[in-house]
Amino acid sequence: MQADRVYLSEIYSAIQGEGLLVGARQIFIRFNICDLRCAWCDTPESLVKTRDCNVEVDAGKREFESILNPIDIQHIPSYISRLNPALHHSISFTGGEPLIQYQAFNKLITAIRSVTDIPLFLETGGHKPDALKKVINHFDFISMDFKLPSSAKAGNYFVEHKEFFICALDFNKNLTIKIVVTSDTDMNELADSIEMVKNVSEKYENKPVIFLQPVTPINGTKPPNELELLKLQSKMIQKYPYVRVVPQVHKLIGQR
Ligand code: SF4
Repeated sequence: MQADRVYLSEIYSAIQGEGLLVGARQIFIRFNICDLRCAWCDTPESLVKTRDCNVEVDAGKREFESILNPIDIQHIPSYISRLNPALHHSISFTGGEPLIQYQAFNKLITAIRSVTDIPLFLETGGHKPDALKKVINHFDFISMDFKLPSSAKAGNYFVEHKEFFICALDFNKNLTIKIVVTSDTDMNELADSIEMVKNVSEKYENKPVIFLQPVTPINGTKPPNELELLKLQSKMIQKYPYVRVVPQVHKLIGQR
């Protein structure tokens, strides 16, 4: 079933602050609704359906128009156009959890493609493999999370992450993995995740990079200290060499 409308929080132009595309200018489409409740969530307004979506009027000027949810997909190309897609590397589908509204993606992406052909980037919790399979062909880049129970405190999604990971590798997407680490991160959970990535990706030519992201302090959640981070990374790269440590750069430059 195709949906004609979507629940969104924001459409705006910003600098990507995480992972592989850090520093790239993107148009962000932030979806409403998430079924997780991570300890460090910095978009609490996107966890549920909001009355309005804030749509930036001019790229990077931070003047917003309020549009009533759910938004008619046919109106979205005009919101994208006025942000000047040519200025941007790609469009990020983020959230919330964008894959919860995957039934709107075909129409939404067809609508977006009427005004721009810049790459599409999916930022997801990585726990909805069935939804991913239905829409993966649309995306050029995928960033999936591995939510460690000890740090996210949002349940154990190891089985779902594995299925999601295999699906993305099968489609040969530009896949990266984000693992947020905190002072509570359990080394064994992290090691199990890295082991799984190593074992599954053995038969694939493109090895995904894992980004260990020290949590930005929020809600009492703290990042590992310098020594802990160095220890975490050195233990992990002995198992799998493609492990980098990158914090949320957009927070460092004062961008929300
Ligand atoms: S998956 Fe993202 S949006 Fe959902 S609770 Fe976790 S951090 Fe927040």
